[in-house]
This record gives sequence, C-alpha cells and structure tokens, in this order.
Amino acid sequence: MSQPKEKITLIGAGLVGSLCAVFLARRGFNVEIFERRPDMRKEDISAGRSINLALANRGIYPLQQIGLMDQVQAMLTPMKGRMIHDKSGNQVLQPYGHRPEEVIYSVSRGDLNKLCMDTAENSGNVTIHFNQRCTHVDFNNLSLTVENEITGQVSHHPFERVIGTDGSASAVREAIHQHTTEKNTVEPLGHSYKELSIPPGENGDFQIEPEALHIWPRGGYMVIALPNRDKSFTVTLFMPNSGEISFESINDEEKLINFFKNDFPDLLPLLPELTRDYFENPTGSLATVRCSPWHLEDKALLIGDAAHAVVPFHGQGMNCGFEDVSELDAQIQKYQGDWLSIFSETERLRIDNGNAIADMAIENYIEMRDSVNNPQFILKKQLAFELEKLCPDQFVPRYSMVMFHRLPYAEAKARGVIQNQILEQLTTGKQTIEEVDLEYAKELIDKNLSHVELNPTTN
Ligand SMILES: Cc1cc2nc3c(=O)[nH]c(=O)nc-3n(C[C@H](O)[C@H](O)[C@H](O)COP(=O)(O)OP(=O)(O)OC[C@H]3O[C@@H](n4cnc5c(N)ncnc54)[C@H](O)[C@@H]3O)c2cc1C
Repeated sequence: MSQPKEKITLIGAGLVGSLCAVFLARRGFNVEIFERRPDMRKEDISAGRSINLALANRGIYPLQQIGLMDQVQAMLTPMKGRMIHDKSGNQVLQPYGHRPEEVIYSVSRGDLNKLCMDTAENSGNVTIHFNQRCTHVDFNNLSLTVENEITGQVSHHPFERVIGTDGSASAVREAIHQHTTEKNTVEPLGHSYKELSIPPGENGDFQIEPEALHIWPRGGYMVIALPNRDKSFTVTLFMPNSGEISFESINDEEKLINFFKNDFPDLLPLLPELTRDYFENPTGSLATVRCSPWHLEDKALLIGDAAHAVVPFHGQGMNCGFEDVSELDAQIQKYQGDWLSIFSETERLRIDNGNAIADMAIENYIEMRDSVNNPQFILKKQLAFELEKLCPDQFVPRYSMVMFHRLPYAEAKARGVIQNQILEQLTTGKQTIEEVDLEYAKELIDKNLSHVELNPTTN
C-alpha cells in the first residue's frame, strides 16, 4: 500500500470497471472513469439486458478480498441445480454438486454494479464521469477523446495509464490493436437472446421453485429463468437468428403464442407480458471475442469483456472478469510500479484462461439446450459425482472445477477432456450406475489424473 498517488484512467464503469476501481482505490491510486451510459443509480437503464447473473466462487473471491461480500450476501438467491422442464411440464432437479455448499447465486446486475460504484466513490479516490463515451485513445500524445452522449460535446483528456473495461465492443481494444500486428477476432454465435419475465404470484411469492436455475431445453433453442429477490424470475429465450425456429421467423403475435403453446406450455401462463416483452425488449446478440495482445507497453491493459467476451452459457463472463481484477491487483502488489511487468504478466496469466472459458461456454450451450435430457449424459453426471467421492483429490467434475473452485480455467478444461474420456469408457453400453466397475474406475483415475489444486475461497 505504499505506492505514490498515481493516476489511472478506466474506460467503462460496468461490473469489471467499477470493481477494478475499488481495488485500485484501496492501493491509493487516483482513479478517473469515463462511462458511456448515464448513472444507473439515478436512471433506470437496465431493462432488457441480463438483469440477473449467476455469481460463483471465482467472482465471490475478489468480493471477499475487497470486503464487500457481507453486503453482497444480502443480494443473493442460491441456486442448487438445474430444474429441467420437459414439454409435458414434468420437472427434474439436476443438482450442480453433491455438497451443500456447491451452489451458485443469482444476483442483480444493477445492484452489484451500484454497490461497486458506491464503494469506489466512497473511497475518495475515484471519480466517475457519466454519459462520456471514449471515441479514441491517442497513445502517441497520451490523450483520450471523449464525447458527451447527451450534448455531443467532444473533449480531450490527458492520461498516464488506461485500463479498458469497456466491454465486448471495446474502444480501448480497437486503439491498442491499431498499434500492434496481432489479431482480434469476434465470432458471432448465430444465436441471440431476449429477456422476458415471470412476475411474483398473486400471493406475492415465487411462482416456480426459487432455489434453482430453470431450463426448458428444446434442442436447437432453449429458455432459462433465474430468480430475483423480489420473487420474480428473469427469463431468457435463446434462439437462432434465422431458420425455421428463429428470431427472424417468429415475427408476429400469433406465431409467438403458437411457439410457446407448442414448446413451453407450462411456461406460457407464467408470462403475462410475453408479447410486449418479446416485441419491445431488445434482441441481444451473442459473440465470443478473442484478442491478443491485451496490453500496450506500460500504457494500456484490457480486462473483462473488453479482452474476452464469452457467450453466457457457463455463467462465467463476470466471474472471469472479476478474477482478472484480482490477478491485476496481485501483479500490482508484486511489481510495485513496474507497469510493463504488471500489464504483461496479467495478460500472460489470464489470456489462455480467457480462451479456455470461451470454449467451455460454447460447449455448455449445447449441453444446456440439448444434452441435459439425454440418459447417457445424466448417467455420466451421476458417475462424475461418484468418482469425485471416490477420488476427491484427483477427479472433480468439470462444472464444479469451473463454478465452485478457482483452479485456472485452462487446467479445468484440460482435466475435463481426460475426465470425459474416463466417463465415456466407464459408461459405454451401461444404463445404470450400479453396472459401472468402480475398481476399474479408480485404476483409470490413478493412471490418468494427477492431484488437483482447487484454490478454495475463504468461505
Ligand atoms: C444474457 C447474458 C447473461 C449473462 N449471464 C452471466 C452470468 O450468469 N454470470 C456471469 O458471470 N456473466 C454473465 N454474463 C456476462 C456478463 O454480463 C459480462 O461478462 C460482464 O458484464 C462483463 O463486465 P464488463 O464490465 O467487462 O463489461 P460490461 O458489463 O459490458 O461493461 C462495460 C461498460 O463500459 C461502458 N462502455 C462501453 N464502451 C464505452 C466507451 N467507448 N466509453 C465509455 N464507456 C464505455 C458500458 O456502458 C458499460 O458500462 C451474461 C451476459 C449476457 C449477455
């Protein structure tokens, strides 16, 4: 904590930018943030864009580090597993883990963002300028160009160091890559999303099981629902952009209602504002952003979605961005003012992990919308829990490694490939868990899997 009061500029006061400001302020830096949108504490700007999010251990750990977890705790609704809804309205809960603490939490994006902004500002070291969109970063003259979103007025601001926390369409990323020869890829998923809502029931209570993430998997598309503290659910329809069943084809009220009657009959009566929500809420596009480098000399760094936007099917975009912040803070501590090392080491330690969670998130879309109904998939899930009980230091289901532990994503992905081969080998031709040879399973695990370091959080 002994650094001089140096100034750091952030672009974007979303989840990652505002948490990053809290960490930087704690180390005594002067932080200035330019944020394109209005102040969400004064204006309602969240409608239609992932109103709630799944918070898991990787995101919880930085919040603990900064002392915010007590306040965040009051905002959380635990989700113990996936509640799968079939077309006949039957529901089955698939637990996420086999230990009571293995749950994830639904949290309001707005409430979490506001808490981080308040904490940042209350430190006395952070100033947030709202309605100010960064349009250009001039690295030769160390000057930012910023446009006021309301008046259109353009201003220029000197900076020493800039951190791009400006999300998937990052202006800072664009500026860094004008100075480098490396690549920046945006891979559209070809599917988009629409937010709908299940209000509380007439008795003021939740209308479906609150402690679960609900999924209506339908093969090429799906609906999910996450609980909110006000006893409503935020519902998200994920569907292809074009094709037989798509946002392009379902383009009038009759088609929409028929689609829901046919595919989601138990959900339809819970969505009183379906037509309004579907036609008035924005259709959100989904893409994976991979880029390199994440930094420019000792002048600029990208973190959060600006560096690695991922599709939302592992519920890890924010969690991963929070982990970036914690890693950046560790490098600031380690390299004490050597900003080239701080930025290049943060990039080195995070970039493969960003790419790994991007891959796993795409794989999870197929799992969520399709495989969860498949008996072989269900058997493999059951067996994975058994193998974890059998060899807890070696075999941890991949979902658990990603959601309940903090080992690097790239390692979780690599171990997941080996584990899947073991699960395939043990379940091929089997219908029930009783038919699996556990002695042989132990042999396979000992032969193929080393000890796993899980890096628990402190809770
Ligand atoms: C439908 C959906 C569901 C999701 N669910 C989950 C989940 O369950 N769990 C999870 O961990 N993640 C989830 N995510 C991902 C998560 O939303 C993102 O990873 C997270 O918001 C990234 O935070 P960020 O601060 O990096 O970027 P953002 O949240 O995009 O914030 C960027 C900020 O920068 C501002 N900005 C942008 N450009 C400029 C500019 N030029 N000048 C100034 N300001 C600018 C923006 O206004 C914004 O405030 C989900 C995403 C979606 C779309």
